[in-house]
Amino acid sequence: MISFIDLKAQKERIQNNVERRIKTVLDHGRFIMGPEIGELEERLADYTGSKHVTSCSSGTDALLMALMALNIGPGDAVFTTPFTFMATAEVISLLGATPIFVDIDAVTFNIDPDQLEKAIEAVHKDSSEIHPLPKHDTPLKPAAVITVDLFGLPADYGRIEPLCEAHGLPLIEDGAQSFGGSINGKKACSFGTIGTTSFFPAKPLGCYGDGGAVFTDDEEINEKLTSIRVHGKGVEKYDNIRVGLNARLDTMQAAVLLAKLDIFDDEVAARQRVASAYTEQLKDVATLTTPTVEDGYVSAWAQYSLLTSDESSRSALQADLKEAGIPTMIYYPKPLHQQTAYASLHLEESFPVSEDCSKRIFSVPMHPYLEDGTINTICQAITNFGG
Ligand SMILES: *Cc1c(COP(=O)(O)O)cnc(C)c1O
Repeated sequence: MISFIDLKAQKERIQNNVERRIKTVLDHGRFIMGPEIGELEERLADYTGSKHVTSCSSGTDALLMALMALNIGPGDAVFTTPFTFMATAEVISLLGATPIFVDIDAVTFNIDPDQLEKAIEAVHKDSSEIHPLPKHDTPLKPAAVITVDLFGLPADYGRIEPLCEAHGLPLIEDGAQSFGGSINGKKACSFGTIGTTSFFPAKPLGCYGDGGAVFTDDEEINEKLTSIRVHGKGVEKYDNIRVGLNARLDTMQAAVLLAKLDIFDDEVAARQRVASAYTEQLKDVATLTTPTVEDGYVSAWAQYSLLTSDESSRSALQADLKEAGIPTMIYYPKPLHQQTAYASLHLEESFPVSEDCSKRIFSVPMHPYLEDGTINTICQAITNFGG
């Protein structure tokens, strides 16, 4: 049986280090904000080149904290992609702001900069003719952009950063899947005004529970983030200067992450090997589209996702692979604007690329410990079916 993500091979490799790190935490007993938290934040800052890192309780809370630090609230329009995990848009709605969905690029699956520009103009002019806008009763004001580095590939920051600057919009990079990726050597999570990531076990850098981090070069924003993380504290713990959260990362999880960081670069390299092998063997299968990574970009390969020619051939291929003991997943079967939770936005058929991809996309097993023989078995099964 082939696993979709195999954490066991990694566990054996890091077991001694993890156990040593955890024992240290058990011995010092500082389970909340222990010394491992500061050590981890420094390592993450070094890794990404960000000036400040605030670790936190999850990738979702990282996004929530980022929006809170930017004072996002009712009346604010926050632009993002509908082809992502619910968390990206959920935090916008939680704060009473309105998500403005922007379709994706058909090749990268990331937000389309041309559509983003149109969406900003549409909100400015309050015109659904320029871009599909959600149903809203009160006027909306462009307030922020959240890009997602889907499947580990950074979004097109070469175009998106200047676009946000020109419109005076802060940019949040949802790097939950892209920690370890980069563009021309600049690391994922360091783009825009604020970057966020997730340490959920299945992400490229995962802990043994929930965790996340927020990255920024802005000193003032960072101060707000560290305050929001602990109930809006001021200088003293019981001096509350704003409404915040309990959103700390556990010391235990920081200890696990420190052990995992030691081998992380090696794992990112291993993911490149796996992805290249897949692409090499599958690129000529006529009925499939393999992922494209443009020059200068490095994907963290959280997922290796392909497109079939239509929905029914995807179902047939998935069933065939399942029979052969090869697990596949669909990220994402339903874009967010079509989710029940967002029915009130009345955007049912508004973003054709996201809608089309959700019908044809599927992901194959991806982790750094996937052996060449297993990759060959998977590719052979796909080729036999689709060839
Ligand atoms: C996983 C994920 C999140 C949420 O991270 P959690 O740690 O599970 O809260 C947010 N955005 C994207 C794109 C994700 O893949």
